[in-house]
Amino acid sequence: MSGFVDFAADGVWAAPGRVNVIGEHTDYNNGFVLPIAIPQSARASVGRRTDGRLRLASSHPGSESVDVAVADLAPGALTGWTAYPAGVLWALRAAGHRVGGADIRIDSDVPVGAGLSSSAALSCAVALAVDELYELGLDRVSLARIAQRVETDFVGVPVGLLDQMASLGCVEGHAYFLDCRDLTGSQVPFDCAGAGLSLLVIDTRAQHELVDGGYAERRASCEEAARLLGVPSLREVADPDAALAALPDGPLRRRARHVFTENARVLRVVEALRAGDVRAIGPELTASHASMRDDYTISCPELDTAVDTALGEGALGARLVGGGFGGSAIALVDAGRSGAVAAAVEMAFAARGFAAPRFFEAVPAAGARRVG
Ligand code: ADP
Ligand code: MG
Repeated sequence: MSGFVDFAADGVWAAPGRVNVIGEHTDYNNGFVLPIAIPQSARASVGRRTDGRLRLASSHPGSESVDVAVADLAPGALTGWTAYPAGVLWALRAAGHRVGGADIRIDSDVPVGAGLSSSAALSCAVALAVDELYELGLDRVSLARIAQRVETDFVGVPVGLLDQMASLGCVEGHAYFLDCRDLTGSQVPFDCAGAGLSLLVIDTRAQHELVDGGYAERRASCEEAARLLGVPSLREVADPDAALAALPDGPLRRRARHVFTENARVLRVVEALRAGDVRAIGPELTASHASMRDDYTISCPELDTAVDTALGEGALGARLVGGGFGGSAIALVDAGRSGAVAAAVEMAFAARGFAAPRFFEAVPAAGARRVG
């Protein structure tokens, strides 16, 4: 905890990481997503300051502390982790809100860079805190958009709204079915334990270089496909089969096919969960992975190994989650089998010379809230 600023916090706010059950790379295509919040969260202890200074510290190993004037914040002014909390104050001020200085101390147990959205957990916790301390009265969708601007405009990664909406909007025991076209959502009961199942998260610890560039390239391909089809986004396509036939054979068609089929899978999963049939979602998860591996081409050997090994050990379904090219996979397994599945994945990784993976069970947890 060295390097921590010493201050009296006015309160503590927590925002969780997330696992997206299904609906990958659909958010920026105005499509459907279905995340759950995970129990791991970023906690922001925040105190208001009257001198316009922003002081930041994080307990995450190797995190430098900073002390800057809020008025000096601008995209590019800060790099590294401090860009996330500082970006929240910048984005709020850029949107015209009266926000001054703050002391912010971050303590997060969301695995960093594992595709579980440690970044949005961080920015959403800070956004909620600053909203309350500066009495801005913003609703959660507005706060999610602020946190998204932190990543798109301040950090410089063109992310969709999934992570922020999940962190701010999820409810314990439920998956959050969100339509990214108009940001309307509903809570869908998701009771794995009640169905005798566990949702095992496999953090592959892999991080391939393509992460940022690959993400931007996929996003650009979808925009190009929509342009060729004469629609504002791939969501506005009424007849996916006709649209696919109209697109040139090649990557563009395959990217669009992933988006169309993934949206349809989300709807089927929501239907199954509403009917109380958790087991039925397994094949949809596996089909989602195949689509991302073959059509969207965002998998990697570690993710494929995790998914194939879990399925070989009897998982009902498995898929990569998050942006791809590394990070985590999920596997839906019979309760009591997760240890055996984890052991098999561990062995498969060791046999291929991959770094040792990490495991935990995801239970649908609460969204962002004040905790102290
Ligand atoms: P993900 O959101 O999937 O974990 P990202 O690359 O989007 O991966 O965000 C990871 C970045 O978020 C880290 O490199 C770091 O800058 C920042 N971050 C997340 N959690 C913390 C933390 N507890 N302390 C400091 N920085 C953090
Ligand atoms: Mg992130």
